[in-house]
Amino acid sequence: MFDILIKGGRIVDGSGNNWYYGDVGIKGDRIVAIGHLEGAEARRVIEAHGLVVSPGFVDIHTHSDLAEFIQPEAKPKVMQGVTTEVIGNCGFSLVPTSDPTWRSFYKQLYFIMGEIPKRWHTLAEYYDDLAKQGISVNVASYIGHGALRAAVMGFENRPPSADEMIQMKRLLAQGLEEGAMGMSTGLIFAPSSFSTTDELVELCEVLAEQGGIYVSHIRGERDTLFQSVEEIIEIGERSGVPVHMSHIEAVDKPNWGKVGQEIQMMEAARARGIDISYDVFPYRGSPIRVFGIIPTWAGKGSLEDVRRRFMDPSTRAVIIEQARPQDWEDIIVAKFAGPRGETWRGRTIAQIAREEGKSPWDLVFDMFIADTSLILTQLHMLSESDVRMAVRHPLGMIASDGSYETEALRHPRLYSAFPEVLGKYVREEGVLRLEEAVRKMTSAPAQRLGLRDIGLIREGMMADITIFDPEAIRSRATYFDPEQYPVGIEYVLVSGQITVEKGKHKGTKAGRILRK
Ligand SMILES: [Zn+2]
Repeated sequence: MFDILIKGGRIVDGSGNNWYYGDVGIKGDRIVAIGHLEGAEARRVIEAHGLVVSPGFVDIHTHSDLAEFIQPEAKPKVMQGVTTEVIGNCGFSLVPTSDPTWRSFYKQLYFIMGEIPKRWHTLAEYYDDLAKQGISVNVASYIGHGALRAAVMGFENRPPSADEMIQMKRLLAQGLEEGAMGMSTGLIFAPSSFSTTDELVELCEVLAEQGGIYVSHIRGERDTLFQSVEEIIEIGERSGVPVHMSHIEAVDKPNWGKVGQEIQMMEAARARGIDISYDVFPYRGSPIRVFGIIPTWAGKGSLEDVRRRFMDPSTRAVIIEQARPQDWEDIIVAKFAGPRGETWRGRTIAQIAREEGKSPWDLVFDMFIADTSLILTQLHMLSESDVRMAVRHPLGMIASDGSYETEALRHPRLYSAFPEVLGKYVREEGVLRLEEAVRKMTSAPAQRLGLRDIGLIREGMMADITIFDPEAIRSRATYFDPEQYPVGIEYVLVSGQITVEKGKHKGTKAGRILRK
């Protein structure tokens, strides 16, 4: 007697192999039988004729750290078929923290996570809280290098002392013991950006000893792209740990077309024995902050330092003179808490600047002065051919990179990264096979993290399963109306519990904490 029997679907098992017809029997939280199960008894039967039965999607790059508490139903993710979220990316994790610096670090996290209502000290404490509350998806986490550095040395822009290095290593080791998958860096974000390659290689010794992956938002995705790829490869080579590049991208028109070469560099590194991979979100547009469009020196220091520079007319003039020209018709306001914030959201900088009778640069600087958490969205930051190549290449995994900005126009990827690939890139454009796309969403990320009981439809695996209509699946989220759930996701099971049924979230909270 099964608890659930999924009948007659096309099984896309997550391995990349061809789909086949089969029934799936579930007992408790596990898949216990696959095959022709006609006549078997079950408490509950799901008819899956015409539907694809796939492992639940593993979103290997998210910024849902705080959202797991505030929105434990994780609706934007579960409704698109995600059953596991990996948090702590880009150097940003809520833990570890230390007494003198946790406030300033949480302030730094504001732009990506919003207001953080309480403080956590360790990953164990954070996980205890999550487990007590219950959650609809599984959660795995990295230790953010930004958090490590802030806990030990605040926002000091210098190499750590020998003693500080020992403390960072100790905190990282503790995080891994408490279940972290590895360490993430965000080498464009303070304080992670203050590190040298040597510091990162030394910290990787802890990952090498205890087992863990080094994951990086690399140091530059524009002019310094190739040096930055070289750096992550060097870190993999010198430390011997597996390395993974977050959200591969070649930003701004002069760099378009470079993703192919980035992947070639990774392939060459793999040929030399360096275990490297990447993930990608399937969109051309991306949120940007002022730091991304001004010269590096002008974005250095604290938010207040940057703000002061913008307030000084002569510094402002120098910044404008040295900055790359921007296409202001392509940049919209996503989050602005200053005056007129509501009415400006979703409109282009060019439009608003015309109305206000200001130059676009002056408008952006004035907005930042009024609200340092200002977020803009550049609609065509990446080239379509780069995105296609990154989505298609076998080294890459699909991720959302979604964050839950509050009072903002969120990026559609939070609601629809996975259906976007399955609808647009698989069905409509034939960029990759369905089986390959599902592999990149399931077994590939699971194996990358060493999670051996999710990511495949096999007997003995956890019953994390997404059932979708391959002919209907499509994203409905757009840059201007992002908070739309996709169509075509029929059922989502987490730990053998039906969490989405006929496209509706049932409020089930069967997610687990996944420890290394
Ligand atoms: Zn990032």
